[in-house]
Amino acid sequence: MDEIEVFTGNFTQQEPISEAGIAAALAVLQSGRLHRYNVAPGEMGETAALEVDFATYTGAAYCLAVASGGYAMGCALRALGVAPGDRVLTNAFTLAPVPGAIAALGAEPVFVEVTEDLVIDLDDLADKATSAGAKVLLLSHMRGHVCDMDRLMDIAEGAGLKVIEDCAHTMGAAWCGVPSGRHGVVGCYSTQTYKHMNSGEGGLLISDDPVVMAKMILLSGSYMLYDRHRAAPPPEVFEGLKYHTPNVSGRMDNLRAAILRPQIAELPQKITRWNALYRALEAGLSATPGLRIIPRPQEEAFVGSSFQFLLPDWTEPRILSLMARCAARGVELKWFGAEEPVAFTSRHESWRYVPAQLLPRTDRILAGLLDLRLPLTFSEVDAATIARILDQEIRRA
Ligand SMILES: *Cc1c(COP(=O)(O)O)cnc(C)c1O
Repeated sequence: MDEIEVFTGNFTQQEPISEAGIAAALAVLQSGRLHRYNVAPGEMGETAALEVDFATYTGAAYCLAVASGGYAMGCALRALGVAPGDRVLTNAFTLAPVPGAIAALGAEPVFVEVTEDLVIDLDDLADKATSAGAKVLLLSHMRGHVCDMDRLMDIAEGAGLKVIEDCAHTMGAAWCGVPSGRHGVVGCYSTQTYKHMNSGEGGLLISDDPVVMAKMILLSGSYMLYDRHRAAPPPEVFEGLKYHTPNVSGRMDNLRAAILRPQIAELPQKITRWNALYRALEAGLSATPGLRIIPRPQEEAFVGSSFQFLLPDWTEPRILSLMARCAARGVELKWFGAEEPVAFTSRHESWRYVPAQLLPRTDRILAGLLDLRLPLTFSEVDAATIARILDQEIRRA
């Protein structure tokens, strides 16, 4: 009998921070000036410089670096005037920090169904855009799948909805050449370890709207030092806002910014490598019976930092047994259909602070949705090995 192949890679091990990032971090530590507003005369701190660089990278007029992706979303919602009791549209298929950011403001998430292509269901959105009584859509590009953004923006504009984009999984992605995060009023990004740039924790906000950006800077805890920002609107924009905007501290610091800045230039090359892993896995599963690969539209430039597939209409015992057999061979699958929230996979029924909602299409899709991380410590040979193990175990089930 052939020996059973086991994969030995670690699904949560990222690459080290590059030498450029380590050197920049050491320089900040040696300076002692870790707080973003603690700068020498004439100095542009690392945080302000990161904001300039990320605004340039995305083509946005303004950028603000903050403490986390979750903080970024809450800050954007506040800046758009979301108040307690307001209803906010968002994806039913997303991660817990998304409904959490809405609930933290005392507002109420209204969930929109997901399609088999793992994007927001635009027909359901069109219905709820007029019926839900919401003024804001917090759109989550969950697991890096970008919907038809042209149609989404038409629906939003038609219904007078403002759009905030959660780009935690789409930093570096685009729709028809427009970077993810540049369609809505605000784009939110996370720089925690499992996203596309790694500073442990961190977040970025971009916008072209001077008033919204000035509010976000004031909210983030600028202590009236907004003139030290370089990717910000001019001081006069802050004048009318500064007495009315609460300080909800959630700043980025110079150490994290120093670690992040070189990663902007490293991103294009990393995207190429992520997508090579993604395509290797996709190719290895292309003939697996009963498995649905998620189609990737021509218009979408994606970042394949994770991989999803559907096993439509599989029963729970069958999925659990597949996961156990894959785990025994070193392949860690996450399942979005589990009743109990496990690690990053929780579903709308687990968010019981939100009024219960009927989402039959989403429930059916999540029941067969499996997910793998693809850290850049994996090679294309590793991706092919993972695909081979999955293919064998799915055929056996
Ligand atoms: C990680 C993540 C966030 C929030 O980022 P944090 O930096 O962890 O707060 C938001 N949305 C999605 C889809 C995420 O995966």
